[in-house]
Amino acid sequence: MRGLKEKRVLITGGARGIGAATASRFVDEGAHVVVLDVDEEACQRIEDEIPLLSGTIRADVSDHKAVIRAFRELDELLKGLDILINNAGISIRHSFMKITPEEWQRVMDVNLNGIFFVAQQAAQRMLADNGGVILNMGSTNGLMGYPFYADYNASKAGVIELTRSMALELAPTVRVNVICPGYILTPMQEAEYTPEMLRECESKIPLRRLGKPEEVAALFAFLASNEAQYITGQIFVIDGGEITGGLASR
Ligand code: NDP
Repeated sequence: MRGLKEKRVLITGGARGIGAATASRFVDEGAHVVVLDVDEEACQRIEDEIPLLSGTIRADVSDHKAVIRAFRELDELLKGLDILINNAGISIRHSFMKITPEEWQRVMDVNLNGIFFVAQQAAQRMLADNGGVILNMGSTNGLMGYPFYADYNASKAGVIELTRSMALELAPTVRVNVICPGYILTPMQEAEYTPEMLRECESKIPLRRLGKPEEVAALFAFLASNEAQYITGQIFVIDGGEITGGLASR
């Protein structure tokens, strides 16, 4: 991908799943990559798995003060930031009537407040440096209704609208887009779905399979690269065709 070599990249939630695959892809592209994640063990593992990583930072994106501290660490490690993959997120499978105020708050804190805290710190540096790219992690759940994820769906819809607003205010200096994956097989999915549920999902997806973290990483790489210099404020769905049709396609 053109223009990723030597770029300074931060990936939140980068120690596992889609974030880890994205870290690996950007390192392969010759970028300087720092992973920020709350999972201590996973951070240690990814440092072993990707020796060319420029570093890992332990922080909870939902904690504003911790995010400010994390960016000070990042300044030491990379001396600036060109690309943010704003990926960290959580989900809980529960019915709308059973969501507790604490669960609702936690999902919003990580998936929406966390995206905002990290994006604002990143944008501050990119504006001062006169350029940058921010890619936020949404979901097809932010575009369609899905049962058992009301809090998650609302948080991801928020990320989509936050992205559009940021893109307008940060243009022309910083490009901002949002990626909306469908079902991608990661530890997050494996924790919530039985093999039977996964098979049922596959049968409803036109391409007849779940997506791979590496396929989402490739989309991040394209959107961060110079190939995408005229793209900002957009929503990119990567879902094997899942939300293309309505009931008639099922
Ligand atoms: P994983 O759970 O596999 O990986 C997410 C990583 O983020 C984990 O290492 C996790 O740590 C870390 N993390 C969680 N909370 C925080 C936090 N508060 N601060 C910092 N790091 C945190 O998830 P996925 O790779 O599946 O998902 C990544 C993103 O993609 C999420 O935003 C998700 O909503 C989105 N997405 C995923 C889809 C999928 O099908 N997998 C589909 C659509 C969107 P820990 O292990 O401790 O939780």
